Amino acid sequence: MKEGGFNLSPSRKRYVVPSEVDRSKTLTQQLAKNQTLQRRHGFTRKPNLADVTAAGHDMLRLVNRRILLSILSDRQPISRAEIAKISGLNKATISTITGELLKDACIIEEGSGRTTPIGGKPPTPLRLNAKRFGLFGVDIRADETVLALCDFNNRIVSRVSFETGSVASSFLNKIAKEIRKFRSQHDSFIEFPGIGVSLPGLVDNQSGKFLLSVVLPWRDVPVVSLLEKATSLPVIIDNSARCSALAEIWHGKAQYAHVRDLLYVGVSTGLACGVVIDGGLYRGGNNTAGQFGHIPIDINGPDCRCGQRGCWDLYASDKATLKRYAELRGPNGKRVSTMRKLMELVETGDAAATEAVRETARYLGIGITGLINGLDPEVVVIGGEITKGWGVIEPIIVEETKRNLLAPRAHRVAIRPSAFEVRPSLKGALTLIQNSLLSVPHMG
Ligand SMILES: [Zn+2]
Repeated sequence: MKEGGFNLSPSRKRYVVPSEVDRSKTLTQQLAKNQTLQRRHGFTRKPNLADVTAAGHDMLRLVNRRILLSILSDRQPISRAEIAKISGLNKATISTITGELLKDACIIEEGSGRTTPIGGKPPTPLRLNAKRFGLFGVDIRADETVLALCDFNNRIVSRVSFETGSVASSFLNKIAKEIRKFRSQHDSFIEFPGIGVSLPGLVDNQSGKFLLSVVLPWRDVPVVSLLEKATSLPVIIDNSARCSALAEIWHGKAQYAHVRDLLYVGVSTGLACGVVIDGGLYRGGNNTAGQFGHIPIDINGPDCRCGQRGCWDLYASDKATLKRYAELRGPNGKRVSTMRKLMELVETGDAAATEAVRETARYLGIGITGLINGLDPEVVVIGGEITKGWGVIEPIIVEETKRNLLAPRAHRVAIRPSAFEVRPSLKGALTLIQNSLLSVPHMG
């Protein structure tokens, strides 16, 4: 009887190892010919028995196809030979997959027909077909919402903004109407694979609901079902910090350094974070991960709306910075109502505005140090209006982290402003759909 590759001896009732087994390598080494892959992942994941993704032929084909499309998205124009070098896939496999992708109009060949100086045929560079997919992104913020359509090369081809409505259902219907209009205006796209929506608050990505927010009077809104019904397109939602984290991994500077573990700290009215672990967004057991803003940093601090005291959010959010500035200016001092205006004052050298921002940077540094100690990311990306004063805040944040990091290697963690000066969360909303087209599943 054979079981799991070993012979079960009926007489001795124990497993015996067949004589042809190669004892020079461990079984894991024999199974994982790709040593780089083995070193990188260490095969540490327990298989998901509740929702098995078996490594069948179709799944392998899908994974290889997406690896190829991702390489193209990153390095285009690129030849088949270069793809082989980067991916480790053999030339025959690449030829088969590129043949399928050409047939599906996902990629195009460019510059064919030229010859090399010695008369041979040069490698034909491949590109993504920009018109294959038209991706919708909706960035909903408390005050303003932006709807954008981008092509398969991430180039925004159209965008429109509106004032965000206080009644969710009628506002989402208005967005759906605009989406239908965009579709008819841009009918050269072969397919519209879906709509990504970034929301400012607690979002359950699995149920498709926007749960609650302190900046928007929407509660328990079934955003996915409302928009899907009104547009007949698939919809993916997430909160703005997690969308922004995803955008950094796919399109930020992190992309070029092949960063796999990233922490995004979104500084706006509140503080929200997005955590990327091994290239994937970490959403948590209840899909609400990333609310590090509500970790208390002073148990004797002021009351927080979450029911605790002295949360990080109360010291490092835009709301905290604006409050600090008002206190520094005194009761008869100048008032500013938005972070954008406060950062303009910092730019002009206003002492109170600069001090308010410097103090926020210290608190950002304290919180980020704790998160680096706990999560060990390769890069921390900070987003929000406050990063316009990067020259003011960076040295303070770095000084705080240097003082309190536990692991010596943690000092190598790069702390950077977001790669997207304007609306990282819009880029993130679009990335939700791109991610669904190019990401690879966990096998097993
Ligand atoms: Zn709190």
